This record gives sequence, C-alpha cells and structure tokens, in this order.
Amino acid sequence: MDDPSSSGLGNFHRVPHGIPYSDSNEGDSDSFESLPPPIVDFDQYKVERFLQAPMCSGMKTSSNSDDNSESDLDIDPISPDLPTSVLGPSSLDIISLPNRAYDKAEEIARRVWEAGWTVVHHSHLPKWLRDNDFLIKGHRPPLNSFWACFKSIFRIHTETGNIWTHLLGFVAFLGVSVSFLVQPTIEIQWQEKAVFSAFFVGAIICLLFSWLFHTVYCHSERVGRFFNKLDYCGIALLTMGSFVPWLYYSFYCRMSPKIVYLVLIFVLGTACIVVSMWDKFAEPKYRPLRAGVFIGLGLSGVIPAMHYVITDGFWAAVDYAALGWLVLMAVLYILGALIYACRVPERIWPGRFDIWFQSHQIFHIFVIAAAFVHYHGISEIATYRLSFGDCVETE
Ligand SMILES: [Zn+2]
Repeated sequence: MDDPSSSGLGNFHRVPHGIPYSDSNEGDSDSFESLPPPIVDFDQYKVERFLQAPMCSGMKTSSNSDDNSESDLDIDPISPDLPTSVLGPSSLDIISLPNRAYDKAEEIARRVWEAGWTVVHHSHLPKWLRDNDFLIKGHRPPLNSFWACFKSIFRIHTETGNIWTHLLGFVAFLGVSVSFLVQPTIEIQWQEKAVFSAFFVGAIICLLFSWLFHTVYCHSERVGRFFNKLDYCGIALLTMGSFVPWLYYSFYCRMSPKIVYLVLIFVLGTACIVVSMWDKFAEPKYRPLRAGVFIGLGLSGVIPAMHYVITDGFWAAVDYAALGWLVLMAVLYILGALIYACRVPERIWPGRFDIWFQSHQIFHIFVIAAAFVHYHGISEIATYRLSFGDCVETE
C-alpha cells in the first residue's frame, strides 16, 4: 500500500476550515498563509493546520458508501472522528500534543486511504488527467498505486467501459489465436500459422496495451504517459500485423510487390511508432493529428489494393482478395477514428455519456469489430489461395 501522504493527491481544491470555498482561485494556499491564525494557541494552531492540509481529495470517508457519488469536497478537514481531547483546549498538553495529533492524523489518513476513493468531477482533476472536457463526472482521481488501479477495473467510472471493451477483446483474440495455432499441421500448415501469427500478435498486443493503458492511466502523470505511448504502439502493430497475411496471400506468387509492400508497411508503421514516442503527441490538442496518422497508416493499404485491381481486375479482387471485407474493415476503423477525433456523442450532450457509450468506447468496439472482420477476410483469402496449390507462374 502506498503512503497516502506521498500520493500526490493534494492537487485538488479543499474547503479550508472557516473560509468560503472558491473554485476559481488556483493559488488559494498562498492567500491562506497571510490570514491571521484562527486559534491563539500556537501548538493547537499547528495541529489544526496539519489536519487541514490537503490529504486525499477524491478519497471517501468510511461513512460514505455510495461509490458513484460526487464527493470530492465532502471530507471535513477536521474529521468528526477526532476525539475532543486532541482539539479541545481543556486537555491541552503543550509538549505531547503535536506528537499525539500527528499520530491521530496519520491514523485518520490511513483509515481514509483504506476506505478507498470516490469518483471526482472533471474540474477537480489535475491537468494531465483532463483528456476529454465533455465527460463531466465520474472520473477516477490520481491513485498512485498499481494495485488500486487494477482494483478500479471493478468500479464504475469514466474508464470502466474502455477497460472492459479491450480486456474482453484481448481475451477473445487470445482464444481465437490459440484455437488456430493448436490445429493439427495436416489441417493448417506451419507457414499459415506463422503468417497468421503476425496478425494475432498485433491484435493481442494492441488490445493488451490498450487495456493496460486505460487501467493505469490515473496512476500518475509519468506512468500514464508511458502507457499512453504503448497504447499508440499497439495500434501501429495491429495495423502492420493486419497487412502481413493480406499481402502474403494476395501477392502469393508475386515476390517483388509482396516484398515492396511489406517493407512499405513496416517503414510507415515504424514511423508511426516513432511519432507516438513524441511526448506532445498524447496531448488533447493533437487528437486530430493522432487520428490522422493512424488513418493514414491504414489507408496506405489502398496502394496494394489498387495494384491488385489493376493487374487482376475488380471482381477478382472482390472474389479472391477479400476486397469487400477489407473495405468493410477500413470503414469500421475510419469511422471509429473519426468518432474518437470528434468526441461524439458526448460533445453534443456533455455529461450524458460520462460512464457508458462515450466516443472512446465506441471507437474501441469498432476496433474489435474491424479486427474480427479482417480475420474473416484473411481466412477467406488463405482458403482460396491454398486451394490452388503451389505457385506455377514465374515473375
Ligand atoms: Zn483506448
């Protein structure tokens, strides 16, 4: 369990004792310093200041049992649990009071920490967690603990849908991959298993990284940024992996275009990963750029598709290169990316899709649907191509 006092959770506004709360003043603490101490006794004043220190906004007191209630400001700086012997002037012991009060405060902090956290309003998130202004309530506060992040999978908040869509997608693809790869060699030869594995690995890594990112995003700025980069790498790897079986079977007996297009997608995918490593790439203002980069990577498939249509004809591409499935896959990816970039529907009805059916969840579902469509498409191409036997034509 992490130390709550070092959890970085003090970024939130807290109503100071006896001072009206103002959400507009970021520098509240400075103005408090200049106020005269409310209590004459210096030791007691220090105790009160210590107990008022921002400790863990976003965490709930043990009496607050509603997980979804907005209570980021509902923790009384002086806990009602605190015995009057600490606060009351009647039993003031000048020497031992600070130590006893410190122990009490530590005990309170420990109990609040163990009681867990509660969801917070968007305006009370630190800047690095403010990704989508149209999701108003239900955000996780910074948790600063991987254990707490993973436990949050089973709580309801703005990331619950994002976590579960790709966690279930990850499990589904793992199952599909295993059932494909354990087929006897007489049914599916090792070459097919190797080629399909490129797609399976891309899909599994993409969904795994995405699930991990959405789970630990609220840990801290450093951890969130690192996993965000992994998330983008996963998208690039899925796109690259998707191209491999398609190019392999579409240009089965044409070595030169096959190599050229495989190298092309490898170079473009690597470029995408390099761009994703740029720190500013994850900032909200670059959302359209992110969508554009990954749509561009996917649309690079238009070049080999046009090549096939020109050399073999449109209907051959539809019948033998699964062009219809590829187009459906592209439409799903592009539609998903556009929904992600435009943040619809929460942009139209801010606050209505905080928990379910927000744009990012729709994007996730489109990604899974597109990946399954692609799996179906490449299975058809492989079945068709392998029915012909070995290559007889020469280049
Ligand atoms: Zn995501």
